[in-house]
Amino acid sequence: MNAITEKTTLSQSRSIDRLIEGVATSDGAGVKLTRVLTGKLQRRLDPFLMLDAFGSDDPDDYIAGFPDHPHRGFETVTYMLSGRMRHRDSAGHEGLLENGGVQWMTAGRGVIHSEIPEQEDGVMEGFQLWLNLPAQRKMTEPWYRDFSSEEIPEYVTAENVTVRVIAGVSNGVAGAVTREVTEPLYLDVHLPAGASFSTALPDTHNAFIYVYRGAVSVGDTRVEAQRMGVLSNTPGADGVTLNATQDARLILIAGKPLNEPIVQYGPFVMNTQEEIHQALDDFGSGRFA
Ligand code: MN
Repeated sequence: MNAITEKTTLSQSRSIDRLIEGVATSDGAGVKLTRVLTGKLQRRLDPFLMLDAFGSDDPDDYIAGFPDHPHRGFETVTYMLSGRMRHRDSAGHEGLLENGGVQWMTAGRGVIHSEIPEQEDGVMEGFQLWLNLPAQRKMTEPWYRDFSSEEIPEYVTAENVTVRVIAGVSNGVAGAVTREVTEPLYLDVHLPAGASFSTALPDTHNAFIYVYRGAVSVGDTRVEAQRMGVLSNTPGADGVTLNATQDARLILIAGKPLNEPIVQYGPFVMNTQEEIHQALDDFGSGRFA
């Protein structure tokens, strides 16, 4: 754990552009979840394609998991706050994702994988983020890595804000994963009541927060639990400042837009319709395994 004593001062903070409630849905073999970042926001939040939040203590909501299914053309980042999930894929990777751990998978040219809960009761809570790949990397070799909770770099500020750095760099602390081109920043921020927290963000990057406990304010806008706040792309703003009116936990995600065409068909995200047909054809003829 790193202690950051110097206060980050920004010349100007971004504000909240809009608040998003998310859509209750189910996926896989019937896992209940909230789709926070839906297709309609893919352009606005480029390079991010999807954010699902799941959280339940009712095993019926999660027990069936996500049996074998394919992906091509992007990366999936699963952050498990609580629970145990077993992953297996056609590239030969297997891992157990649990409390505080992260699984980062680059689907690239294609994997078939399963994500199955390894618990019969208790809470399962976390997030799955889809991060797009640039056109020239969509057909890259699949890549996979599990990070246990202990492997996620953390720091604590002078105001007792704890920050877990899953990807990118925040206040000089490098996260578990770095990526060129999309330069994702993925933070889990825990603020005690009354604390504020600032982190730098390049003003070209699209960014959002999702509050999962308590509430925070960004400027004059309050963001309650289970809400996403899309951060403004204010020219000249050099980061964001969050103020906790009560104990709060949130994820903060930012990335550099690709500005490339996005064509999605379910678990395939490519740049053209032809590439989608190719993905369906390759999957149908067993060329993913
Ligand atoms: Mn999947």
